[in-house]
Amino acid sequence: MGLFHCPLGAPYYDDDACIDCGLCYAQTPEEKVEASRKIREYMKAHAPRTTAVSKVAVCGKGGSGKTTVVALLTLALKEAGRRVIVIDADESNPGLGRMLGIEGESKPLSDLFCEDGLFAERERFSMDEIPPRFVSDVDGVRFMAVGKILDPFQGCACSMAESARQIVEKLELKEGEMLILDMEAGVESFGRGVERHADTILVVVEPSFESIVVAGRIARMAQGMGIGRVGAILNKMSSEAMANRTKQELEKWDVKVFGTLNYSLELAETAFEGKPVCSRASVEEAGIIFKALTCAMSL
Ligand code: SF4
Repeated sequence: MGLFHCPLGAPYYDDDACIDCGLCYAQTPEEKVEASRKIREYMKAHAPRTTAVSKVAVCGKGGSGKTTVVALLTLALKEAGRRVIVIDADESNPGLGRMLGIEGESKPLSDLFCEDGLFAERERFSMDEIPPRFVSDVDGVRFMAVGKILDPFQGCACSMAESARQIVEKLELKEGEMLILDMEAGVESFGRGVERHADTILVVVEPSFESIVVAGRIARMAQGMGIGRVGAILNKMSSEAMANRTKQELEKWDVKVFGTLNYSLELAETAFEGKPVCSRASVEEAGIIFKALTCAMSL
């Protein structure tokens, strides 16, 4: 049993963290489904109960605009006085650091957990304890990346997913700090349980059938893990009518909508040119979405 395949983070079968769900030795599809059911039940029963919005995982279909939404939320939160910590947990897409105006690359977090066994064994840590070589700082926003697959035969991305999972679980946030993760596209990270310790899942949805279906699946998986705050951000909406149609489709999957980001030519142009995100209107829309989200939580 490899370190990175147990959704509960057990390093080996029969370790203290192992609940004997049977996933790592399941042979048949039925055994896998049963093991997955046991894991979901366990996660639901042990999910942290919190009303705070402090660890936010941004998910969605590839191309839905997750990375742009993370950048917009980061800028909006920074303007609102939050100390934002951003994790690029997508091992393929290289754009987030650039969108935030970060030049150069910090050391990948997967190296931190692989190189420093003692660090990996810690139960909790704060941002101050993460060595600076793993952190880029731009205008008060602290940015880290799990790593990228850059070469053929480099190996699988398990160590990167595991480092994201450990950060979500173990990073202790101080007053005013907020963690936002740009997750890899699709549902694979849910299969690995990376988001398990997030308190909020935002699913970015563009106006397409695939994006809506993926959002529905993500919402079900997130709720199955016991994450209570799950909702969609509609992105790249060209009209109110399109936003309403997308909302109606999401209702069929029981996915609530936290807000809408309208299509922005300015954003499309900066994305094409590889420049930092700067659309004032979109940052304001992201700020409104976040305010609505936190207000809804206090109801
Ligand atoms: S049996 Fe389940 S909980 Fe135990 S190590 Fe295997 S996958 Fe993890």
